[in-house]
Amino acid sequence: MAENLNLFTSTQEVIKKALQKLGYDESMYELLKEPLRMLEVRIPVKMDNGQVKVFTGYRAQHNDAVGPTKGGVRFHPNVSEEEVKALSMWMTLKAGIVDLPYGGGKGGVICDPRQMSMGELERLSRGYVRATSQIVGPTKDIPAPDVFTNAQIMAWMMDEYSRMDEFNSPGFITGKPIVLGGSLGRDKATAQGVTIVIEEAAKRRNIDIKDARIVIQGFGNAGSFLAKFMSDLGAKVVGISDAYGALYDPEGLDIDYLLDRRDSFGTVTTLFENTISNKELLELECDILVPAAIENQLTAENAHRIKASIVVEAANGPTTSEATKILNERGILLVPDVLASAGGVTVSYFEWVQNNQGYYWTEEEVNEKLLKKMVEAFDNVYTVATSRNIDMRLAAYMVGVRKTAEASRFRGWV
Ligand code: NAD
Repeated sequence: MAENLNLFTSTQEVIKKALQKLGYDESMYELLKEPLRMLEVRIPVKMDNGQVKVFTGYRAQHNDAVGPTKGGVRFHPNVSEEEVKALSMWMTLKAGIVDLPYGGGKGGVICDPRQMSMGELERLSRGYVRATSQIVGPTKDIPAPDVFTNAQIMAWMMDEYSRMDEFNSPGFITGKPIVLGGSLGRDKATAQGVTIVIEEAAKRRNIDIKDARIVIQGFGNAGSFLAKFMSDLGAKVVGISDAYGALYDPEGLDIDYLLDRRDSFGTVTTLFENTISNKELLELECDILVPAAIENQLTAENAHRIKASIVVEAANGPTTSEATKILNERGILLVPDVLASAGGVTVSYFEWVQNNQGYYWTEEEVNEKLLKKMVEAFDNVYTVATSRNIDMRLAAYMVGVRKTAEASRFRGWV
């Protein structure tokens, strides 16, 4: 059978298994296998050349039994209805795993922001908010940044919503600039969360981080901050990569130098001659491998050759279901994306809480609260995995989906 590379159907499969293990019947799966709401919008934008271009956008709300839905807005040429749906389901799982009072949501616009001027991007961002305004809001559905959207785009979106609402609404969106109510620590939160999860996983495998060799695929927001945190902890980051190639040094790479030289898209390898391929990078000798770039990187084809004893998925969906099975059979501890990369949504939640109370925390307070959430989440998932003798992905889905299933049951939806 062909390997399943479809994020939506493979997510549905694991949700189904998780609900069965939790003892729910088919009707709960029928409720949770798709978002409750999926809005498709057309957004007319006056381009700089005077012509109007109409963009297609989406907003999916997977389930709001627990509370408002929450999730990023992606601006990318490959955005599709199916991708947005799958990502909204993952947000439900992440919120459940770190125990946030949210359901999952996600949005996207089919566009290429790299080809657009700042003015065009601003008009598109404001247009997206106007087009989706009936279903989003601080107590309904709270957007955030995702691929190719950033704090500036969040600021325009918040401003547009505040104008429509006729009062300042910082809690409408997270990932804002600090001066507009953004949270300290939000930009590094995903990498901080992955670092905490790596430390917890290493403890379970008796690996001392100071002696550990780490390979990280991807040197963008998630991968580069992670490399920095790991090297600050004394680990040897022996390999890193970007879309153009990979760097390897068994003695450990100079991460501060690479951070200094990388561009805003996370590219750095083009400055070097002795590079290796991303394919070779994944199969390097190391203790901990962190895919932090794109999906479908660990497959049935290379899973047998992975040498790490721990794989931590910082990216969304880097491992296919076949590769998950192979890595688990080989005794490799695979920490799934829905747990490992939940630091971002956790600090987004902290941002929303601070906006609602109008009282702001120091970065130390944010990091302390993040540490507590991530350690508890790892513990819960690890305990379910070991006590039920199942893999960490299925365990994470069980922990993640339980709260939404319970809330749906109490509300009398199923
Ligand atoms: P980013 O755009 O900042 O960086 C992506 C990095 O991956 C870049 O270094 C890029 O060169 C590299 N890359 C792109 N295509 C590649 C390819 N084909 N092979 C190898 N490398 C390639 O993205 P990011 O924010 O760091 O996100 C990376 C992953 O982490 C994504 O899967 C994202 O969904 C996930 N994630 C990120 C966050 C966050 O807060 N940034 C939160 C949750 C999950």
